[in-house]
Amino acid sequence: MSMDRREFMKIAALSAVFGVGGPLLMGKLGARNLEASEFGLTPGGKRAKRWAMVIDVSKIKGPADYARITRACRKAHNVPVIPDPKHEVMWIWTDDYEHVFEGTDNPYMEANVKDQTFLLMCNHCDHPACVRVCPTKATFKRPDGIVMQDYHRCIGCRFCMAACPYGSRSFNWVDPRPYIKDPNPTYPTRMIGVVEKCTFCVERLDQGLDPACVLASNGAMVSGDLMDPNGPVRKLLASNFTLRRKPDLGTSPNVYYVIAVIGGGKNA
Ligand code: SF4
Ligand code: SF4
Repeated sequence: MSMDRREFMKIAALSAVFGVGGPLLMGKLGARNLEASEFGLTPGGKRAKRWAMVIDVSKIKGPADYARITRACRKAHNVPVIPDPKHEVMWIWTDDYEHVFEGTDNPYMEANVKDQTFLLMCNHCDHPACVRVCPTKATFKRPDGIVMQDYHRCIGCRFCMAACPYGSRSFNWVDPRPYIKDPNPTYPTRMIGVVEKCTFCVERLDQGLDPACVLASNGAMVSGDLMDPNGPVRKLLASNFTLRRKPDLGTSPNVYYVIAVIGGGKNA
């Protein structure tokens, strides 16, 4: 889904309205304190003050690499493969430069960059529009920056989908379970009528593991703490030219794309 700044501002204004309605709904549903600890922060897990991802698309060589990465996420999280594109559920997917960096196009960008395919996912934004509009607090941001979805609180209103300027969320229009080939018994499946998206692999981070896509990317994707100046994310950001999607919207996305290796480093 694409969205320009004007549309985004309209949604932001609507969220102010639902900010008033939200507490009423919360009272009806019963207040519940969604602490990070409810999602399994256990000893030995990976920790960060602010999780971020860096993707170097130049290291992803072709369709087989992209398929391996997206398949790893599907397999880990029981993401269904639904043939009808109107009902598709996507946690990580691909698109071209023109769509990914819509509105930030540089006519002088090297043709080889414009010809590349980019991986897209939830950006786990610092200021997530999706969280702001959710009337039941089903979507929320953890203290470490990961934006989560509580499927049991989701009422299927899809305000979060309308608010997200990156199209990072999918709605289960049909029961997804018949469309999961070879289900992973260690990860929950979802039900019809709820929204889902990438979780930055919280369940794997909590076991001290890298996200499934990072593991499958053979070094093209790096996950880590944006606040650690000596960590791998900050080292990559300091030494490469990177772009983020739609930085002018004020959401402050935490997925960075390495565009070309340069000496000094400059980040959008
Ligand atoms: S990318 Fe979209 S769904 Fe993800 S945190 Fe940002 S606004 Fe929310
Ligand atoms: S971080 Fe995890 S949930 Fe997000 S796209 Fe990668 S594998 Fe999927």
